[in-house]
Amino acid sequence: MATQRILDFLATRRPNGPCLVVDLDVVRDNFHAFQKALPDSRIYYAVKANPAPEILRLLAALGSSFDTASVAEIEMAMDAGAPAERISFGNTIKKERDVARAFELGIRLFAVDCVEEVEKVARVAPGARVFCRVLTDGAGAEWPLSRKFGCVPAMAIDVLRHAKKLGLDAYGVSFHVGSQQTDLNAWDKALADAKGVFAALAEEGIVLKMVNMGGGFPTRYLKDVPTAQAYGQAIFGALRKHFGNRIPETIIEPGRGMVGNAGVIKSEVVLISKKADNDNVRWVYLDIGKFGGLAETMDEAIRYPIVTAHDGSETGACVLAGPTCDSADVMYEKTPYPLPLSLTIGDEVLIEGTGAYTTTYASVAFNGFEPLRSYVI
Ligand SMILES: *Cc1c(COP(=O)(O)O)cnc(C)c1O
Repeated sequence: MATQRILDFLATRRPNGPCLVVDLDVVRDNFHAFQKALPDSRIYYAVKANPAPEILRLLAALGSSFDTASVAEIEMAMDAGAPAERISFGNTIKKERDVARAFELGIRLFAVDCVEEVEKVARVAPGARVFCRVLTDGAGAEWPLSRKFGCVPAMAIDVLRHAKKLGLDAYGVSFHVGSQQTDLNAWDKALADAKGVFAALAEEGIVLKMVNMGGGFPTRYLKDVPTAQAYGQAIFGALRKHFGNRIPETIIEPGRGMVGNAGVIKSEVVLISKKADNDNVRWVYLDIGKFGGLAETMDEAIRYPIVTAHDGSETGACVLAGPTCDSADVMYEKTPYPLPLSLTIGDEVLIEGTGAYTTTYASVAFNGFEPLRSYVI
């Protein structure tokens, strides 16, 4: 949300063009809220959500660990001060030479979801810890992660058995319940699956030690979301239910929930028009759209709160679009967005809850528009 520090920054610096402003105080509060909600879980911040060096440095100093998806992200986390022991290579789709490079850098914790990936890790990261990702259905998530990552639990048993056979440390199970997950029960089913894998392998003498419970923690957009505390209670309850008094080591990997509400995008209205005189829907074109960092408006999945100087006055339905010459660059059309009738060309608007998945999604120079600028304060 737009904190006073963000509003003051925008008022005094008056940056030209669309930009993201992130308030580090909010990131710090989020980190502490996660720590308090799940005191026994280690926090691996999902770097892809927002890899700004200031954010990584703050989290590294607070003691956070990091979930990374590439050698470049590993190097960013290390540059920010995180030692290799606090970094996981959590992408299940890795080139073998990148696994080798990560191993050289000291990384010892890798995600896998098939025997083919286990073979790569065993060849170039001997003895490393691996955890196998299981599929979830993503129900309840506004940004589900589909079937791209993970395997069915029965296959995870084979994958981890194979890891052990190849000399790796079969370390645990991971899952991701889908991003912007607002159903507190989503972790229950996934933890039941994880427990099944633990139990089956225990019978063969393979003792897993860790459950990686992924991300999914939401940011408040237009609707209220449960607190970190509520997530902590639901997850701890599910851990108790499935693991009894032998709860394993646990990890969470918040991305959106760590930085989403810490950032606000300042944008400008470029044009307001209609397609016919009798249209009752106005088209509002901003200087930022799907290619400038708001890619999560795809399929109108994420609906950001938009703040204008005219809020409180009468509103009318608008189609909201970006500035590029691509017809896909329309953010909200199926469900039009209500905006004040008095909104005019040249007005600035604030798009809230945009600290996650914006700078990383901005294109490099589509139509000559520069990538989303970011200020971390
Ligand atoms: C993207 C990602 C996350 C972060 O997810 P959020 O829903 O933003 O919290 C966590 N873990 C993995 C493996 C990811 O790919």
